[in-house]
Amino acid sequence: MTLTPKIKPNSKIFIVSAPSGCGKTTLCKKLLKDKLKLYQSVSATTRPRRKGERNGADYFFMSAEEFIRMIDTKELLEYEENFGFLYGTPKKLIEELLQKGKNVLLSIDVKGAMNVRKNYPQNSVLIFVMPPSMDELKKRLETRKADTAKSILSRLKIAKQEIAERDKYDYVVVNDSISAAYKAMKDIIVLETESTSPSNPKNSGMVLRRH
Ligand code: 5GP
Repeated sequence: MTLTPKIKPNSKIFIVSAPSGCGKTTLCKKLLKDKLKLYQSVSATTRPRRKGERNGADYFFMSAEEFIRMIDTKELLEYEENFGFLYGTPKKLIEELLQKGKNVLLSIDVKGAMNVRKNYPQNSVLIFVMPPSMDELKKRLETRKADTAKSILSRLKIAKQEIAERDKYDYVVVNDSISAAYKAMKDIIVLETESTSPSNPKNSGMVLRRH
């Protein structure tokens, strides 16, 4: 008989969601570089690799067949389709980290965030990153020149749907400036990892709420 080691109650899974173009990747990369003892969960995806992305570091890039095999063998904690591609969170690494009492950073969409929380209700801390306004988000998507006009419209439509779900998150951070949003997220992580039952977070000015 194999006994599954228990997940440490103090281990935290920080789940960050944001509409496309809100600076989530930049913020998460900065947090991982900081001395916050956060471990990154690398997702699996069928989306083609973008310039500068590394397999195994940014994502595990794979074919649809490989992804479906991971679904069949129950290797994914959750998975969703986004913009025509599949994205999923591998289960093994997260479980190992939580059993060792480590803290994990997950950067996934709203549906995925809800599913992870369902699996780990005691360990999950959900952070939603918002754009300062829809106009500003549109401007950012247009400036990064990564999408066609049609794709920008579809991303804005999805952004509106995701923003409507922000109340389901523990924290909402407005990304007005990267440095202030980063500080707000760092404050949340420090607060949540230092205390097992946060009640009244320090307000860094950018954090809107803790339910
Ligand atoms: P992108 O292609 O821009 O890297 O990501 C597209 C969307 O997929 C983003 O909202 C991102 O957070 C989400 N995503 C990335 N990895 C996962 C995952 O493992 N699970 C889920 N549910 N969404 C993911």
